[in-house]
Amino acid sequence: MKTKVAIVRCKNYDRIEVEQAVWKAFDLLGGAGIFVKKGEKVLIKPNILSARPPEDGVCTHPEVIRAVIKSVRDCGAVPFIGDNPGGSISPAKAYEGSGLASLAKEEGVELKEVKDIKVVNGIPIAAYFFECDKIINLPKMKTHSLMGLTGAVKNMYGAVAGLYKSELHKKFPSPEEFVKVLVDTFEITRPDLVLMDGVVAMDRQGPSSGRLRYPGLFVAGEDSVAVDSVFAELIGIKPLDILSTKEAYKRKLGEADLKNVEILGGSIKENLVSDFNIPGTPELIAILGPCAKFVMRFIKFWPSIDERLCKKCMICRDSCPVSAITINPNKSVMDLKKCIRCMCCHEVCPHKAIELKRNFLAKVFGL
Ligand code: SF4
Ligand code: SF4
Repeated sequence: MKTKVAIVRCKNYDRIEVEQAVWKAFDLLGGAGIFVKKGEKVLIKPNILSARPPEDGVCTHPEVIRAVIKSVRDCGAVPFIGDNPGGSISPAKAYEGSGLASLAKEEGVELKEVKDIKVVNGIPIAAYFFECDKIINLPKMKTHSLMGLTGAVKNMYGAVAGLYKSELHKKFPSPEEFVKVLVDTFEITRPDLVLMDGVVAMDRQGPSSGRLRYPGLFVAGEDSVAVDSVFAELIGIKPLDILSTKEAYKRKLGEADLKNVEILGGSIKENLVSDFNIPGTPELIAILGPCAKFVMRFIKFWPSIDERLCKKCMICRDSCPVSAITINPNKSVMDLKKCIRCMCCHEVCPHKAIELKRNFLAKVFGL
């Protein structure tokens, strides 16, 4: 039987508009009641990367979370919310800044913080991910400076507690090594239902400093790999050119062959997102084919602090897994000999003050 993925249009974050679109997406999949049963404890896992407000398009929008809370309650289940933001940012600060703290208060929903950690296959995961009956994954449709895209599979890396996320980058520095731990985390915390927030998306230098795009879409399904594959197709990328999709598909954790996916609601063709610019290399790898590995050795990226924008908040310094950043009052320094290009600093900077520099060859290939 084919796995189902629903594509539903939603033009903005108006409360009623979102509620109706979320209801429609779940209804196309057979209704939220297929996934969530009466009396169950349901963890809602949004993408709360940092303390950025809804209008920045970095975190899953609070109205999307509100609509999912309602769906869970309509099933007679009990929702709670949890995520671990990037780097040294505390969950409490991220909940506050992203608008989740006030949403949780209005809705009377518990926001989880890490009290205990459970280590599974060497990965320290917030224990509350194991203290629920179901998990609903709410990724944001965005690019990612290290992995190309951050979608449903990548969003579950937020289960890793606090700064352990950066530590794992240090242990597995290359994208090829890191994707294994990313997919391990996904496999351990595999969600039961996914709703991707693509009402407002982000391309170019995502996941926090990119360009806002307005696809006006939700992509939903039971299978996170299939949802990511549809996301890739919507922006004109082959699903298996995204490392996390390729690794998860290889491990048979979901479907990446769209011949085996039934698209419900709108079609991919009528919802294509044009000119979605991805950092890094998936398109280039596809173009260069067998030569890609050789050429990639000469393409260089590195982070750099824009002193005009830097507010000396120290978040990047405290998040860097190899202590490569020194923040000074006038000129801050990134030790590029130490830097492992994990891009955590770029991800967590709340002021878009860390840009990705590229060498001549990267520019030639339009990266
Ligand atoms: S670069 Fe960004 S994160 Fe780092 S100190 Fe400056 S403002 Fe803070
Ligand atoms: S300076 Fe380098 S190693 Fe440190 S967080 Fe930034 S990209 Fe990662």
